[in-house]
Amino acid sequence: SNFQEYELSEDILKALQQLGYTQPTEVQQKVIPVALERQDLVVKSQTGSGKTAAFGIPLCELVDWNENKPQALVLTPTRELAAQVKEDITNIGRFKRIKATAVYGKQPYAKQTLELKQKSHVVVGTPGRVLDHIQRGTLALDKIEFLIIDEADEMLNMGFIEQVENIIKALPKDRTTLLFSATLPQDIERLCHRHMRQPEHIEI
Ligand code: AMP
Repeated sequence: SNFQEYELSEDILKALQQLGYTQPTEVQQKVIPVALERQDLVVKSQTGSGKTAAFGIPLCELVDWNENKPQALVLTPTRELAAQVKEDITNIGRFKRIKATAVYGKQPYAKQTLELKQKSHVVVGTPGRVLDHIQRGTLALDKIEFLIIDEADEMLNMGFIEQVENIIKALPKDRTTLLFSATLPQDIERLCHRHMRQPEHIEI
């Protein structure tokens, strides 16, 4: 199996080649074709499985470069993961000139606000700071078509689930939601049930 099998543009295939990704990992094989169809997904998989590219590749493929407002929001439990996801998406979207912006705590608002005012196709952030930007009116949500909840069980462990829920409530209903988690405790299952559209379940 290789990436040529999927409906991906040359710009994305070229970036994957440059990154040295020749074969999709198992999670990528299962997620990419389905996510490209904008199907909601609950994915049970560990870190290190290639899950970032599993959502990063379809996001970079599907976002419209010409739209100035954010089209995808990725929520992560930690600042480190937010920075890593931003970097991975920037690399995958390099030849399409996809702009990813990271927003997280312990960093001044001014720089993030300025970046959010400029073209940002994908916004990656921790729940608290994302919510702050929403409440300050510095993060436009009306063009969001994709929500990615990464490491959902970690988000629950860190006490962020209510913030995640409040963010979801502020998003357009007509969107695709992908949730990744190593485990699926009841609180996460409930969140999926409340906020996803007949999600398909994938287990690695
Ligand atoms: P992740 O699970 O997203 O943290 O990815 C784990 C590591 O695998 C990262 O260093 C990625 O750059 C790498 N990786 C992801 N997909 C592929 C692939 N298809 N081929 C080779 N390496 C990959």
